[in-house]
Amino acid sequence: MEKELCQICKHRIAEHRFVRVVGGVETTYSICSHCKALMDNKYRELQEEAARKAVPPEMRVCSVCGSTLQSFSETGVLGCENCYHVFDDYLIEYIRGYHGAVTHVGMDATAVPPDVEALFKELADLIAKEEYEKAQALNDKIKRLMGGGDDRL
Ligand SMILES: [Zn+2]
Ligand SMILES: [Zn+2]
Repeated sequence: MEKELCQICKHRIAEHRFVRVVGGVETTYSICSHCKALMDNKYRELQEEAARKAVPPEMRVCSVCGSTLQSFSETGVLGCENCYHVFDDYLIEYIRGYHGAVTHVGMDATAVPPDVEALFKELADLIAKEEYEKAQALNDKIKRLMGGGDDRL
């Protein structure tokens, strides 16, 4: 019988065969030790992520700067890059709804430059892709565009 190659790297001999259920879908893996270690790490990350998301955003506290959702809604400013990680699912919804909210309350819609809407979309995408560093930089840019001369920000 021929040796089976790892189905991930397609290079090393598969030494492990196991079934993993993710999102109700059963998949059989035949993989090498090297890829199994990588996969176990990723799997653990996903589990930690799921555990974190199970806590409602208003109960979360940033472990780096101590920001909470309440401090964010009071100031509109997040404390650090890690905050984006802690509140990402909430932020995506918040940002996606934000521009709509601005125009709906009948504030001067023309005060929002058209490219800010595109920037908000980009920001939500960056957070979804977990590019928090870029997200924070973009958020600062949006704040400057939106805030004009407001030096509170
Ligand atoms: Zn492999
Ligand atoms: Zn923080």
